[in-house]
Amino acid sequence: MSNLSASAIDDRVSEYAWQPKTEDDLESIYQRARKQFSVWKNYSVQERIVWLRKLRYHIAENRDRIANVIHQATGKPFLEALSSEVMMVLESLRFLEKHAEKLLRPQKRKTPMILFGKKSYLQFQPRGIVLVISPWNFPFQLAMVPVIEALAAGNCVLLKPSEWTPSVTELMQSLFHEVGFPEGVVQVILGDGKTGRELIQKHPDFIHFTGSVATGRRIQSLAAEQLIPTTLELGGKDPMIVFADAHLERAVRGALWGAFCNSGQVCLSVERLYVERSILPVFQELLIQSLAQLCQGEDIDADLGSMTTMAQIEKVKSQVLEALQQGATLLAGEHPDHWLENSRKLAPMLITNVPNHVSLLNEETFGPILPILPFDQEDEVIELANQSRLGLGASVWTADLQRAKRVAAQLVTGNVCLNDVIISIANPYLPYGGTKEGGIGKYHGAEGLYAFSIQTSILLSEGKSPSEMHWFPYAGKSQPLSQLIASWYGKHKNPFKLLQAYMKLLNLSRKRNYK
Ligand code: NAD
Repeated sequence: MSNLSASAIDDRVSEYAWQPKTEDDLESIYQRARKQFSVWKNYSVQERIVWLRKLRYHIAENRDRIANVIHQATGKPFLEALSSEVMMVLESLRFLEKHAEKLLRPQKRKTPMILFGKKSYLQFQPRGIVLVISPWNFPFQLAMVPVIEALAAGNCVLLKPSEWTPSVTELMQSLFHEVGFPEGVVQVILGDGKTGRELIQKHPDFIHFTGSVATGRRIQSLAAEQLIPTTLELGGKDPMIVFADAHLERAVRGALWGAFCNSGQVCLSVERLYVERSILPVFQELLIQSLAQLCQGEDIDADLGSMTTMAQIEKVKSQVLEALQQGATLLAGEHPDHWLENSRKLAPMLITNVPNHVSLLNEETFGPILPILPFDQEDEVIELANQSRLGLGASVWTADLQRAKRVAAQLVTGNVCLNDVIISIANPYLPYGGTKEGGIGKYHGAEGLYAFSIQTSILLSEGKSPSEMHWFPYAGKSQPLSQLIASWYGKHKNPFKLLQAYMKLLNLSRKRNYK
């Protein structure tokens, strides 16, 4: 399918030596978006969905072309580009086509007795101009899913993807163009972090950011200066917890896929594997055997591809070297001293005896490295799993589903798979997002549509009476109000006293004069 040479990715990036955006460029980007927003927001949800359906058909028709561009740009296997990028976007589009209209309708809410005679509902409006800033590890999916959710909710979108995958940026530009979206509805902007910062300084109405914790902090602080609301999807250090009664073959295969798909450059990668001590030797042996059967390369059937950037390889190398210097044992894979220079292919590594304090167990690694750690007790492993500051995902593996649910209920994280791994993100009905330094806020599902909407609470009075009980004048109302509170909220409800107090307040509120 491809012919990816060692330096192809950097060459590909350097071809896109984009010009920094001038103040005029930024101004016209925003003007186009604001002009189009006044039109797009007035389309009904159904009308917006017509565009999204056209986009789905177009992506489905061009699936191989898209997957190939992603494969070339990132080094991930072609099959992963098709499944975890193209298919994920298509499934999210289907979800929006089926549900956006209903989810964005005004929602009736209950009105308590104390507001008798009134009605309440919640209404959704688009936020305006949504800025989506996305990373390189899933350059298509992590850009397109927030974009389509924001569009369905009636916003116009500025998309600033990663500078490391410019060919995917260009591809997304063409897709929207080929479908014929009206000018200004989605603008895909090629640029780096500086461009991202400048776009924020022009004051979008909402920012959806996916990327590292460090950049997330910077973005949140820039946004805070202007009080721009944000969703931040940040890093992970996901634990996988395997109890002795788990289906061993499944857990082994799950661990390998969870740790090594996309060469471990997945925010929900398994980065800490906790195995109950009694099965640890068998489990390690099975991991080594199964790992040896995986095929790394560039052809269409390869299981493992290559890393996307040399910079990421350097980060991974320093964590692995530190762990090995501090006494960790390399169970499978190559020692970093033997990694080929200028090659992006990293053989997956299994590492044991990792000391607690090293960065391999505490910082996000984002590479094909799996540290294996023993545990003895359920409470102990929950505590170990929760030690990370990055609360993005986790998985629990056991035949005892009660235990699986009990453990899941105690993990402080945004997403948990039970006897499965990573895949909760593929269900567009489930909201997705992290906690602690794993992120702030959710997208996907109904929560995604609501994140990209202003939610207005409406209380409706028919307006037929001249006044309300709680309005002026207050004269004479304290005693009946006190009686109403005691008879309605107190331990002993008293419907007679309640009605008496209520009628008194009603009569007082009907008095024409303030005196
Ligand atoms: P990054 O933070 O370096 O860059 C992400 C995006 O932010 C890029 O488009 C970049 O140009 C832009 N950017 C950088 N500095 C900026 C600034 N000051 N202002 C505005 N924009 C700026 O992240 P990355 O290396 O591209 O991606 C890898 C990281 O993303 C990992 O930490 C990974 O865990 C995280 N990630 C999280 C999720 C999730 O859903 N939680 C998914 C994928 C990746």
